[in-house]
Amino acid sequence: MIQAGYPLDMRYAGPREALLHALFRQNYGCSHLIVGRDHAGVGDYYGPFDAQKIFDEIPKGSLETVNMNIDWTFWCNKCGGIASQRTCPHTKEDRILLSGTKVRSMLSEGQDLPVEFSRPEVAKVLQKYYAGLSAEQNVKIELKGHSAA
Ligand SMILES: [Zn+2]
Repeated sequence: MIQAGYPLDMRYAGPREALLHALFRQNYGCSHLIVGRDHAGVGDYYGPFDAQKIFDEIPKGSLETVNMNIDWTFWCNKCGGIASQRTCPHTKEDRILLSGTKVRSMLSEGQDLPVEFSRPEVAKVLQKYYAGLSAEQNVKIELKGHSAA
């Protein structure tokens, strides 16, 4: 079974939200959950792979859904598409890295997305959606009173 989404707002709870996503997927009958870099993260609040590490910290057998950890994904000019460090042998000079947080921020600020990240017709739909949001609904990332240490 492939589940490509469900109607649940992001909580940006990082590792704990990754576990929540695994539990929800398990309840839908999914055998695996793809856990990417900074899954359900916000800014630099969590470490980029904290949401993957937490699956090693829970008792074995707690979840039937198995996490599939995916490292950095990016556009590679030489590969001519989206790639990961496992699939792309090229250097960082050939790669364009964009995070979901960065993309939401760019859309909230009315910026164009790089063509390597999104097809123009998809970007237009996203830009129209973000343009219709109120200032309170747009992405504004501020971390105050926290230490990343
Ligand atoms: Zn490549």
